[in-house]
Amino acid sequence: MKPFSPQLVYFEPGALEYPLGKTLKEKFEKMDVEIRETTSHNQVRNIPGDNDLQKYRNAKSTLVVGVRKTLKFDTSKPSAEYAIPLATGCMGHCHYCYLQTTLGDKPYIRTYVNLDEIFESADKYIKERGDEITRFEAACTSDIVGIDHLTHSLKKTIEHIGKTENGRLRFVTKYNHVDHLLDAKHNGNTRFRFSVNSDHVIKSFEPGTSSFLERIEAAGKVAKADYPLGFIVAPLILHEDWEAGYLDLFERLEATLPHYAKKDLTFEMIQHRFTKTAKRVIQKRYPKSKLEMNEEERKYKWGKYGRGKYVYKDDEATTLRETIQSYIERFFPEAKIEYFT
Ligand code: SF4
Repeated sequence: MKPFSPQLVYFEPGALEYPLGKTLKEKFEKMDVEIRETTSHNQVRNIPGDNDLQKYRNAKSTLVVGVRKTLKFDTSKPSAEYAIPLATGCMGHCHYCYLQTTLGDKPYIRTYVNLDEIFESADKYIKERGDEITRFEAACTSDIVGIDHLTHSLKKTIEHIGKTENGRLRFVTKYNHVDHLLDAKHNGNTRFRFSVNSDHVIKSFEPGTSSFLERIEAAGKVAKADYPLGFIVAPLILHEDWEAGYLDLFERLEATLPHYAKKDLTFEMIQHRFTKTAKRVIQKRYPKSKLEMNEEERKYKWGKYGRGKYVYKDDEATTLRETIQSYIERFFPEAKIEYFT
């Protein structure tokens, strides 16, 4: 698929005081993209569109260049200690995406140009933990790889963390636009993960993202560039014939991935979950979606601050975990399974 190119770009005036802000302004001027100004990256109000759905779709191809004010990082479990804030939002249209609700009425893509300040914060967090390893997740609020060909901020972060002794970086993507990241001096400190799923899930619920084959081809390149590699199998969905669907996924993964990519692999497994609010939003934005969200067939799992989620019932979750785990062990016996959640 073609790399993302925004149809509309907003700049916060403050962003132009940073080198990356200036570079991006020049870049978009040359690309002849419509450029507007916004007082704050958190309050872009005039996205074009006659109704909410049109506005939503347009927002997903709008990039807002701003300055990240909150330099306190959120904690990020279970894959890392902290979330490093490089961008917010994504151009993908995955029906199940949790950004649907976490970003509320601000689904546009925000990129932050004050990288040195963000890196300073990261360094402070690393120092606080002394001799312990500190992992940063860069894909908590966006698919950072999908926009990085424009900003290169992920590349700079990879190189910054590459220089630290105890810092580690990780992120996950559904995009194959990795070429500019292949020569980054990562020093083995970045784990590059790709999100994979059964053919049914990718085709039914992940419009606007790279195909399975494109992702695996990119994974091969990344492994060749000596990045530690991993896969997140998520969201695991109990669709019709799911056992055969996921078996086929692992067969194809094993057959397509070059041999050098199979050493030091990690797998993470995340079962599908939704909230009542998410269900409402998804049904509005993707009215024809076949995503199953029947509360009665699920278990309610209480979360922090009373915000619970619907997950699969215990026996189904166990079958799901055991089945996927058995596929991983069969096709990638040396890989490390990090967690199932
Ligand atoms: S690629 Fe990831 S972040 Fe983007 S819409 Fe899909 S699930 Fe959400």
